[in-house]
Amino acid sequence: MGTTIRIARIAGIPIHIHITWLIALFLVTWTLGVGYYPNEYPNWDGYLYWAAGGGSALLLFLSVLVHELAHSLVALDKGLPLSGITLFIFGGVSAIKLEAHTPGDEFWVAVVGPVTSLALAAAFALAGDLVSGAAVLSAILRYLAFINLFLALFNLVPGFPLDGGRVLRAAAWAITGNLAKATALAAGAGHVVAFLLMAWGVFQLFSGNLLGGVWTAFIGWFLHGAAESSRQEVAVQETFRGIKVSALMEPDPEYLSPDTPVGTFVREQVLHRGRRALPICDGNGLAGIISVSDVKVLPETLWDATTVSDIMTWSPLLCVAPDAEVTEALQLLSEHQVNQLMVVDGRTLVGLITRSHILDHLQFRQELGARGNR
Ligand SMILES: [Zn+2]
Repeated sequence: MGTTIRIARIAGIPIHIHITWLIALFLVTWTLGVGYYPNEYPNWDGYLYWAAGGGSALLLFLSVLVHELAHSLVALDKGLPLSGITLFIFGGVSAIKLEAHTPGDEFWVAVVGPVTSLALAAAFALAGDLVSGAAVLSAILRYLAFINLFLALFNLVPGFPLDGGRVLRAAAWAITGNLAKATALAAGAGHVVAFLLMAWGVFQLFSGNLLGGVWTAFIGWFLHGAAESSRQEVAVQETFRGIKVSALMEPDPEYLSPDTPVGTFVREQVLHRGRRALPICDGNGLAGIISVSDVKVLPETLWDATTVSDIMTWSPLLCVAPDAEVTEALQLLSEHQVNQLMVVDGRTLVGLITRSHILDHLQFRQELGARGNR
C-alpha cells in the first residue's frame, strides 16, 4: 500500500505507518485543537488546546492500533498468517493473508475488534473520572472514551469490509455454506453503507461543514473501493479453487546457462522475443532467475562482460511446487510484486507460471461463466 514505514514489531507482528497517517494525525490534532477543545472548554490557556489536540490524536491512533492488534492476535490464534498492521489515513488495517477456515473463525477475528474498542472506551471513561481534578487530562481521557465508543459502533455497521460486515459474512457463510455468496451479500451491504456515507458527506458539505463533509465522503469512497476489491478477490479465489499450478504453467520452459552474457539475454530474449524473465539452470538444476528488472541496475557498457549468474535473483520464495494451488501462486506474485514464478519439483525446474497465464485463464473462465448464465 504505497509508502509505508515500519515502526515496531509487537508479538511478532510488524506495525507499519502509511505516509497518509501523518496527514490524519495533523487533521485530528487541528480539528481538536481549534474546534472541539476550545468549544467544550473555553477557559484554557491557548497552547493547552494544541497540546490536548496532539495528545488525543496520538492516543486515538494508539487505540486504533490496539483494535487492530486484537484482530491480528485472534487471527494468528486461528492459524491465519498475517503480513502486518498498517495505520493509514482512515484508521488501521490488519493484513490477514488467508480467508478464515470456518465461519466461526471469521466471526471471532471480526468481533474482537469492536469488543476491544468498547473495553478501551470503558477504561478511558473510568480513568477520566479518576483524574477529574486534572481538568486537561480528564478532558483528553473523556474524549478518548467517546471516540473509542464511536469506533466500536461504527465498526459494527454491517457493511463489508467493516467488522460488522465481516460478522454478517460469517453468519451468511454459516447459513449458506458458500463463502463467495456470503461475501457478495456482505459486500453489497458494504456498498449501501458506502453510498450512504458519501451522500451524508455531501449533505454536510452543503450545510457548511467542509472538513467533516469531505472526511465522511472520503471514508465512504474508501469503503466502496474496499468492498469491491474484497468481492473480486473472493471471486478470483473461488474461480481457482482446486486448480493446481501444474495445470496453468508453461511446461518445460526455456532456460539459460549461468555463463550466458547479460547482453545475449537482452538482445536474443528481451528485445527479439519479448521475454521479460528466464530461469537459469546449471548441472544441478535451478540456479536462479534473471529478469528485466535485474538488468536495469547494470550499466549497458557492462552487459557483455557480465554473466546472467552474476546478477540473477535467487530466492526460494519465487518458486512454487507444481501441486500447489493457483491461489498460492497468485498470493506470492502479488506479495513479492513479481510477474513470474518458477515451478520447481525438488531442484528440478518443471515450468514457469506468469501473471498473464493466470489472468488469461481467469478471463476464459469468466467468459465461459458469462455464457453459461445467459
Ligand atoms: Zn476492526
